Amino acid sequence: MSKPVASGETGLRVDSLTVIYPGAHEPAVDTVSFAVERGETVALLGPSGCGKSTLLAAIVGITTPTTGTVSFDGEDVTRLPIHRRGFGLVFQDGQLFPHRTVAGNLAFGLEMARMPAVQRNKRVSELLDLVGLTRYRDQAVAKLSGGERQRVALARSLAPRPRLLLLDEPLSSLDAELRARLADDMRDILTTTGTTAILVTHDPSEAEKIASRVLHMTAGRVEPAR
Ligand code: ADP
Ligand code: MG
Repeated sequence: MSKPVASGETGLRVDSLTVIYPGAHEPAVDTVSFAVERGETVALLGPSGCGKSTLLAAIVGITTPTTGTVSFDGEDVTRLPIHRRGFGLVFQDGQLFPHRTVAGNLAFGLEMARMPAVQRNKRVSELLDLVGLTRYRDQAVAKLSGGERQRVALARSLAPRPRLLLLDEPLSSLDAELRARLADDMRDILTTTGTTAILVTHDPSEAEKIASRVLHMTAGRVEPAR
């Protein structure tokens, strides 16, 4: 399944990635190349429709690229199924399990991985503490505010310790004040956990606040390439 790891290569590498949707005249993602070092948070900043979500979908494996490669730590993962990549994804609207409690949402991925209950509860407690939601442990997620919901979504995605976290406009559905506060918290959480992450956003201030490096995306292309 995995190819040998090239020496010295760590983190994510995207090489000449192109996605052309069936029937489309222009590629949604056009010959994109960039790298993300381990522990780094990189923002992909660009206007609506420039191909950000398509690029994330191709990296995580929801969309198969037309050409190009995605590799991690030197291993080509372009054809690897989603669940074998060890990547996590957070959407704009969280997409929580509506009938589970906060703790139930955080535990989901750990249950799938068959983590024993004692360990699982410990990990859920750690995560609740990390995102400041300890008092909401047994709360139904339907009763949470938008900001609290996104904290749950972030914690849930971090639960299985993904080697790469992809965040697709995670703060866009929140109002300005909350967005600013959660942006600060998000940066702290990603730094504390040493998470390697890509943040997709159309908001320059959010990109600057959360990421250590900002790449600009326009009409399917990412600049500067490297
Ligand atoms: P962004 O996330 O930056 O707003 P998207 O990746 O969603 O951009 O979209 C990039 C382009 O691809 C747009 O022109 C959009 O209409 C098109 N597109 C997105 N998803 C699909 C799809 N499933 N099928 C066909 N075209 C799509
Ligand atoms: Mg999008």
